[in-house]
Amino acid sequence: MRLLLHVCCGPCAAYPVAALKAVGHELTGFFYNPNIHPYEEFAKRLETSREFAAKAGIELIVDATYALEDFLSGAMQDLSKRCEYCYSIRLRKAAIMARENNYEAFSTTLLVSPYQKHEMIRGIGEQVAKAEQIPFFYVDFREGWNEGVRMSKEWELYRQPYCGCIFSEKERYYRVRKEKSTC
Ligand code: SF4
Repeated sequence: MRLLLHVCCGPCAAYPVAALKAVGHELTGFFYNPNIHPYEEFAKRLETSREFAAKAGIELIVDATYALEDFLSGAMQDLSKRCEYCYSIRLRKAAIMARENNYEAFSTTLLVSPYQKHEMIRGIGEQVAKAEQIPFFYVDFREGWNEGVRMSKEWELYRQPYCGCIFSEKERYYRVRKEKSTC
């Protein structure tokens, strides 16, 4: 199958790309992640995705728009649903890109992470597929998470310490810093 694979980052792409290539799918990666903040982190993950694609031997289409304001404005509509919004914009963009460039289906490397909201991603992928008239290729890649971690370490890919948005960065670091503070 000629498949457009949304790539959230290099390390998460390692196992899905290997698994899909092993069964004969023809893959193109697609980087579109306006949820990654701040810009230095965005640039680092984009660079790592490019490095991964070169090592894995796949083409990577990049939409490097850093739409911070649009993302924050959308997420702030209802912060409790920010992940739903975040998955939706990324998967919709991938679906449109796939349809307009005659791919047979689209999928996402987000499906490999046990730390993501897997069933939400699956549901949104299916909704977007229906709306944009192109199949969502669902695979539960989570069984390959440890293998992907191993591969990314072997290839010395940068591994990020938080999910992506500035809210997740706060969740990762703020409590730790607060506990350390003596003020
Ligand atoms: S926590 Fe992750 S999935 Fe949720 S909004 Fe932030 S970047 Fe997106």
